[in-house]
Amino acid sequence: MVGAGVSGIAAALALHRAGRTVEILERADRIGGRLGFADLNGGEVLLGGKNIGRNYSRLRAMLDSLGGTGYEPFGINTSRLVAGRLVSLDSDNRAETLHGILRMCDWRDLGTLDGLARKVRSADSARFLGSDLARKLGRHDDRPLSEHFGKRTTANFLRPITVRMNGTEPDEAYYGNFPTNMGMLLDKFEQPTVGLSTLLTRITAFVEIHFRTTVTRITQGDDSVVLDLADAAGRPRQARYDAVVVGTPAYAAAPLLAPLSDLLHSVRYFPATVAVVRYVHDVFAADVRAIALDGQPCSNAGSYGSETRNIVRYTFSGRYGRLTDPTETEVLDLVSDAEQQLRTHLGTARQPRTAAAVRHWPQAYCGYLPHYSDFLDTLTAAAAAFPRIALAGDYLLGTSLEACCRSGERAAAALLSVPQGALRCES
Ligand SMILES: Cc1cc2nc3c(=O)[nH]c(=O)nc-3n(C[C@H](O)[C@H](O)[C@H](O)COP(=O)(O)OP(=O)(O)OC[C@H]3O[C@@H](n4cnc5c(N)ncnc54)[C@H](O)[C@@H]3O)c2cc1C
Repeated sequence: MVGAGVSGIAAALALHRAGRTVEILERADRIGGRLGFADLNGGEVLLGGKNIGRNYSRLRAMLDSLGGTGYEPFGINTSRLVAGRLVSLDSDNRAETLHGILRMCDWRDLGTLDGLARKVRSADSARFLGSDLARKLGRHDDRPLSEHFGKRTTANFLRPITVRMNGTEPDEAYYGNFPTNMGMLLDKFEQPTVGLSTLLTRITAFVEIHFRTTVTRITQGDDSVVLDLADAAGRPRQARYDAVVVGTPAYAAAPLLAPLSDLLHSVRYFPATVAVVRYVHDVFAADVRAIALDGQPCSNAGSYGSETRNIVRYTFSGRYGRLTDPTETEVLDLVSDAEQQLRTHLGTARQPRTAAAVRHWPQAYCGYLPHYSDFLDTLTAAAAAFPRIALAGDYLLGTSLEACCRSGERAAAALLSVPQGALRCES
């Protein structure tokens, strides 16, 4: 396995359960990738993927198998200013959400959105990339998503979704990929009661992880795969395996796999910066736990948990939030501006910060491509020449943690059909 993010861990566990000996090579010094585990004054927080939908069936099965003991509600709750009034969408309050959608959207779009929601609900596969629905809607991808809907719907409804889930503006997103967003929108979100890093780290009982190990090239031979890598001491080495899963984002897989490089490089990624800040008192109330903001670097500010409302997660993403290598001080200055916005909208008082953690990802979110089903077909055909190398990651089924988990399990299943040769021999 290359990569110890959710995609890689899911693949590694599936291969281990099938009786294979698995090793993970991970560039960073800890597990989790874009879950973004970080320390906030002694407590662990996630600066990346955090919320788990009730429909995340494969991810939940994996976490259960690692000793997960249950979930506490988080619920997607977001608000925005529409005509000077704060309008809320809350996944646990369907009546309020419906009312909010009616205020946010152009009337002529309601039928389209309702029809799409019904189609996404009708089949499990419909909320992932490459589905029949995605293929059908992708025929309209000559024009961006924004051109299929009215201005109000685009600004109030679509933008917070695409910016939050893909880092894209609606004029950079495409209809064929929108079912992945709709699938998440229709879900109800929770957080595991046992921390994700505790659960995922339990994989080390079955699978050896080599941290600070960077794979630089992967070459398939007749009966094995050779990996060029730099080990934890920075020494270049080669390692030989029966088969390899590459569980990284497309841009990170591209330099490793020369024959697929151009295709993988073409997948678009967009940056995000996240700051998690703790305050003495609650910033949000139970009924308004997050606000999507427009025309400024902070695209979204929300309470860390439905009960943990004195910790606020600020996300800088979308066209106005694409920061370039910001320092922590620069990010915290932008947080000050967002705090001012929250005070104005929520009518709350200024509060001192007691702790903060910041993370910048130059390529945080996969924004896919137009006509993405065609792209996936081309990639699948090109990758078929390398049966001992399987791909997993956010660019294959979608960016959600569930899609990443499924892509890892699918990659593992593909490799299990490869004849078992000699176990690892290293030179
Ligand atoms: C800010 C943010 C918030 C999000 N919120 C949610 C959410 O609430 N719910 C949800 O479902 N999804 C969410 N997502 C999406 C989700 O977190 C990601 O899609 C998912 O974590 C990606 O997992 P992955 O394993 O495919 O990739 P990654 O997590 O990026 O893992 C890839 C791993 O490969 C390693 N690697 C890369 N190149 C090499 C190399 N050459 N050699 C060795 N190792 C290498 C990396 O260090 C990394 O650890 C969010 C994403 C972001 C950025």
